[in-house]
Amino acid sequence: MFNSIQPQSGRSFGLTLAIVGTATAGVSLAVSSLSAGNPLGLAWLESSPPSITFRAAPAGLGAKPSTLVISAVDPVAGLARVAVTLSQDGHSHLLAERSYDHSGVGSGEISVDIDPLTLQLREGSATVSVSALDRSALRNTATVKRDFQISFAKPRVEPLSVQQNGTVGGAELVVFRYAGRPIASSGVESSKGASYAGCPLAAFDPSKGFPENTYFALFPIPYDFVPTQDTLRLTGTDDFGNSASAGFNYRIAPKSFPQVDMRLSADFFQRKVPELRDALRKLHPAVVPSGDDAKDFKLVNEELRRANEAAIRGVIAEAACSSRMWRGAFVRPLAAAPKASFAEGRRYVLDGSEISRSRHMGVDLADVAQARVVAGNAGRVIFAGDLGIYGGLVIVDHGVGVSSLYGHLSSLSVKKGDAVEQGGEIGRTGATGLAGGDHLHYEIRVQGEPVSPLAWLDERWVSEHIEDKIDSFAVPQATTPQASESPRN
Ligand SMILES: [Zn+2]
Repeated sequence: MFNSIQPQSGRSFGLTLAIVGTATAGVSLAVSSLSAGNPLGLAWLESSPPSITFRAAPAGLGAKPSTLVISAVDPVAGLARVAVTLSQDGHSHLLAERSYDHSGVGSGEISVDIDPLTLQLREGSATVSVSALDRSALRNTATVKRDFQISFAKPRVEPLSVQQNGTVGGAELVVFRYAGRPIASSGVESSKGASYAGCPLAAFDPSKGFPENTYFALFPIPYDFVPTQDTLRLTGTDDFGNSASAGFNYRIAPKSFPQVDMRLSADFFQRKVPELRDALRKLHPAVVPSGDDAKDFKLVNEELRRANEAAIRGVIAEAACSSRMWRGAFVRPLAAAPKASFAEGRRYVLDGSEISRSRHMGVDLADVAQARVVAGNAGRVIFAGDLGIYGGLVIVDHGVGVSSLYGHLSSLSVKKGDAVEQGGEIGRTGATGLAGGDHLHYEIRVQGEPVSPLAWLDERWVSEHIEDKIDSFAVPQATTPQASESPRN
């Protein structure tokens, strides 16, 4: 508990009180300050009751606990007591009750978890009632009621596409139907705890008609997915928090990735570590560079890499389920053969001993210095700037969870928000960030997870696994009726 009184000029004082942690039965409480309790005593005669607001309320109540956040405010007289009750069929449950012993508490926020199953509520309607009493001599009381619908009916998710054949390090798509109350979220969940959002089929192609309540999830199969251990399921959650899951057919082929040793030279340290140390300080202030080159390289390669990864995932997550801008296969961003492959394991070696490891989540393409880099497909720039080990970086969102990244650029030809066409220039190669020489680091990500870019260059893979699969669910648009072609009997 923390309590401080700050003297202020004039005739009133402010009181700050915060109660941290959980009080009783899943109720947590925070009280913030307002200058309440008028020392002239006028507050004791004021006649306005506290005001009550539902700060956060669920659409309805389901089989899982929902959180309700209520605030009560009485700036003049101060709060004396707030109570939250839930009633159904004449039975009443006290969910939370707070008494304010200190004069001067002007506002309180109460967070209540409502668990309909524990409270033995039935489906139908229940009423939450909040009463707040102030400290005025008139004991002004306000009561606010709100009805909530309760339903325990589970939604249903059901796979529609028959075959999902993927490879570790690749991506795959499943089409499914959702039935139930309005959908809150859906998608594919892995036994490792990752979840990949489902989007309505219309996000893929608004020009075509699709059956109602059909969705697709374009999901990555991360490089460390183990087909003999890890599993995938479809999930769906409704607006009351009721959720369901279902299995679907998939076959994931295993794939192993190369391991390489990266020998670090003294020259590399002299050139790169000071630059990356600055990036480390800027992006990850909690990690103080030690000044020792090998130690700081490890910090850059591990801590800075981790911070950069979190930033990239954050940027990409904001674009989830954006409508598709890409069409067909991707083009190579640079006409050059790959120098380093997707998901290769890297061991960094200095003077014969290992100082750090990492996983290379893209492909490296090298041509002449400052070679022209083009967008692999149409999209919208969601990041353009400097980012730690990536150096000069452009991230393009292509829609429906697909994005591409272009790293180590020496110059950028686009800015955040720009629309890019397939083959349009986005910058020039360089050696910025954690790069030993001039090259492009290229990544394709699906729902934020890096995947092998190679499949995306293959027209046939893109049609078979994605475009044709979705098209097969399109329903003919209701246009002019066709003349009957076959005789009826
Ligand atoms: Zn690279």
